[in-house]
Amino acid sequence: MFKGFTRFLQRPGERIKSLFGPQDAPAVTPGPRIIPRQEHPVSRQHFSDAALKVLYRLHNAGFQAFLVGGCIRDSLLGHMPKDFDVATDATPEQLKELFRNSRIIGRRFRIVHVRFGREVIEVTTFRGTPGDDHAAHISQQSDDGLLLRDNVWGNIEEDALRRDFTVNALYYNIADFSIHDFADGVHDIEARTLRLIGDPATRYREDPVRMLRAVRFAAKLDFHLDPATEAPIHDAAPLLLQIPPARLFDEVLKLFMAGQGVATFHLLRDYGLFAMLFPEADEAMEALPWAERLVELALESTDRRIAEDRPVTPAFLFAALLWAPVQQRQAILEADGMPPIPALQAASHQVISRQLQHVAIPKRFSLPMRDIWDLQQRLPLRRGKRVFQTREHPRFRAAYDFLLLRESAGEISPGLGDWWSAFQQADEHEQRRLLGKVGADPAGSGQPRKRRRRRRRKPQGPASET
Ligand code: ATP
Ligand code: MG
Repeated sequence: MFKGFTRFLQRPGERIKSLFGPQDAPAVTPGPRIIPRQEHPVSRQHFSDAALKVLYRLHNAGFQAFLVGGCIRDSLLGHMPKDFDVATDATPEQLKELFRNSRIIGRRFRIVHVRFGREVIEVTTFRGTPGDDHAAHISQQSDDGLLLRDNVWGNIEEDALRRDFTVNALYYNIADFSIHDFADGVHDIEARTLRLIGDPATRYREDPVRMLRAVRFAAKLDFHLDPATEAPIHDAAPLLLQIPPARLFDEVLKLFMAGQGVATFHLLRDYGLFAMLFPEADEAMEALPWAERLVELALESTDRRIAEDRPVTPAFLFAALLWAPVQQRQAILEADGMPPIPALQAASHQVISRQLQHVAIPKRFSLPMRDIWDLQQRLPLRRGKRVFQTREHPRFRAAYDFLLLRESAGEISPGLGDWWSAFQQADEHEQRRLLGKVGADPAGSGQPRKRRRRRRRKPQGPASET
């Protein structure tokens, strides 16, 4: 935390002074606490050039321009913000005119992306309260009722109250570098508390994804949920079933691929939210002793890689999340007499198609995920040319890492992983020796032999006797 800010936080008596903006009408609403530049630690040095360019161009054109949301919250906590959200009274059309490098995106919730090279600044027009008399509708949208309801423009105060958590409703004003605090967010940052603005049950009903955001921020910021914000989650969790799978896919990536996957996973399980995202995986965790550990290990490794700035792929994580239900289903199919290879294929297909009803998994991730699964059947087969074919498979490395996780989680007994570790490091001579060792194993797999089900022979009629 910044030194100056800590000092500011330690003087609660003083910060009340002159915090209400003169333009606000206290009779109707107390207005924001305005924290002047010299009393908070957030500085323009924390912001990217692109964010500052957007703010200044808006300001110079006579519009209001604020940074809002995660970037201010994170700056106050002493973290470098990773992306920037701008709020303004300019409409999307005015923004398009002002920024040649911009695009209006979204229909339900129209926002403008302003691009500078690889960086995108998200700019939103202040949202008003639907149905309010002074809320101005977008004329171009007037033939579409639904869009009108969700794109009602308003003023900054209304905008603040439509945001999710108090700590996300802090606005940094480029006009005088002050911070406007509409919902006591600074106090909640100090108390490391996530508190929804308004009535929590209503806010979750409006948008159930807020439950996932609560858990994500709690894990990421090491905050706790205010009791009133926490209380409705368990009962409201099934509302997530209404959310389009594509939106949930984006959220799942943010939940698990942001560096605090393990903590996030445990919170999701505790609140009954995980079951709404991955119902079959959740059930399998009750039935198979290794299933939860496998996911934990995959998330531990993802968190570690992110901390070390190494690349991570959602395919690996999804492979771990869905492997237990795939194994359960494969076992059922094999018990019905299907051989292992088609049984894995069919089980994968069934589990994926059910999963897609909850969380979309784009093909670019589901195909490599299936490769990782298929290779689990090939890794034990270490005779002749097969070994080299497996070794050359583009997904070998991921499949080998996955095998190690399965051994660590206790799904299979250790041994095969060590063999492949040794094989990869070995020279040609040593590789021949390792292959010879497998040759001595009658199963050729290094795995305990499964009892084969004997195929029932067809009764031999005269037609088959040729
Ligand atoms: P981060 O970018 O670090 O994940 P963030 O708080 O900036 O966190 P974004 O998804 O970038 O999150 O959203 C920007 C801001 O928009 C939020 O801080 C919040 O004020 C508002 N917001 C986003 N999603 C919602 C939502 N579902 N309901 C209400 N307000 C939201
Ligand atoms: Mg953000």
